[in-house]
Amino acid sequence: MKADEKSDVIIIGAGAAGMFCAALCAGRGRSVLVLDHASRTGSKVRISGGGRCNFTNLNAAAEHYRSRNPNFCKSALARFTPRDMLSLVALHHIAYYEKEAGQMFCRDSAKDIIAMLERECTSAGVVINLDCPVHRIVQEGGFTVTTGKGAFQSRSLVIATGGLSYENLGASSFGHEIARQFGLELVPPRPALVPLLFPGPAQKRFRECAGISLDASVACGGKTYRGNILFTHKGLSGPAVLQASLYWEPNAPVNINLLPDRDIYERFQDKRQSRMAVGNFLGQLLPKRFVQTWLDPSFAAWPITECSNKDLRELADRLHNWKIIPAGTEGYRIAEVTAGGVHTDELSSKTMEAKKVPGLYFIGEVMDVTGELGGYNLHWAWASAHAAGEYA
Ligand SMILES: Cc1cc2nc3c(=O)[nH]c(=O)nc-3n(C[C@H](O)[C@H](O)[C@H](O)COP(=O)(O)OP(=O)(O)OC[C@H]3O[C@@H](n4cnc5c(N)ncnc54)[C@H](O)[C@@H]3O)c2cc1C
Repeated sequence: MKADEKSDVIIIGAGAAGMFCAALCAGRGRSVLVLDHASRTGSKVRISGGGRCNFTNLNAAAEHYRSRNPNFCKSALARFTPRDMLSLVALHHIAYYEKEAGQMFCRDSAKDIIAMLERECTSAGVVINLDCPVHRIVQEGGFTVTTGKGAFQSRSLVIATGGLSYENLGASSFGHEIARQFGLELVPPRPALVPLLFPGPAQKRFRECAGISLDASVACGGKTYRGNILFTHKGLSGPAVLQASLYWEPNAPVNINLLPDRDIYERFQDKRQSRMAVGNFLGQLLPKRFVQTWLDPSFAAWPITECSNKDLRELADRLHNWKIIPAGTEGYRIAEVTAGGVHTDELSSKTMEAKKVPGLYFIGEVMDVTGELGGYNLHWAWASAHAAGEYA
């Protein structure tokens, strides 16, 4: 498409949501131009799921998403379900498998999903313009998008520029800036599905635990996640912590149950007459190196029989409810997603169109709908793109 030509729809962002929405709009007979400042499409999809792309989750439903309006995503999720995504993937002969709990992965490579999106776009006649930085958007009747390759015009404009993490892959705050330009409210963006940092003294203390992982349940902001936690050089990672980070706010506590399947006080009572040292006993249930660091050394050496019930009760409470107030997160550099974004009150849940700005749509991660780990974020990219793709 040449500069100054008018298309029905311009989509900014050739990622998951943008490409899918482009194919659907073009499938309805709309002329569609996709612009992206990156040199290739689907950069995040390419690295998603460790290169195998966890492209949907069979359990995709509102309770797996965080948003100021938890009901907003319901309509789009109901109209494009995980089964719809599986049908599309099967249509393109992409082999997939269920890893765990509804998480659907490509058997071979995330590149298969990108190739699928590209085929869908090509066959519907979408024009994709890469290496195309966008400088300015003006609304005058339709939209004029000024880029490094000239100005393009359209009747509808879809913003699909994703979140802020992984700047090296083309992430930018562009979508949020456009929302601000058009007077739309933003929920403050923050990194999510991201490792948490220990507060200063604990960071030093637990450094030697780096690499240890253990099964725990992690509670934060009213949600509890069960799974592995992994000690890093600065804090905690692992699936249960990454999930909990979606609900973590600065200065809020994270409560970890280190022995979620046991009543450790009862186990101490079973050993009440034992001269076994408390540390050695716990070392049978938890990684020894962790116990050595976590437990006060003088307490670790005490025989269980010499401990008071009060001591054992306090220790049991700490094991079942280890409270940490993280100093922060590892940030956008390695966050899997950006929580927050364009406030959903500003958008139609049916079409993703901005209520105040007819013709302007926001889809995917740029808006305040953030999924848990496990394929939920890509499913939101597809579902929101599908909603806009029926109307833009
Ligand atoms: C390491 C990693 C692994 C992940 N794994 C999974 C997974 O397995 N399953 C899952 O569900 N989710 C996963 N995610 C999250 C998922 O990739 C995103 O939520 C999803 O890609 C969001 O889709 P989107 O279309 O909104 O944004 P993106 O896919 O990020 O696409 C945004 C596009 O906009 C372009 N863009 C940005 N700014 C501009 C600008 N100023 N001008 C022009 N173009 C611009 C970008 O270049 C990019 O092409 C992962 C994320 C990361 C970082």
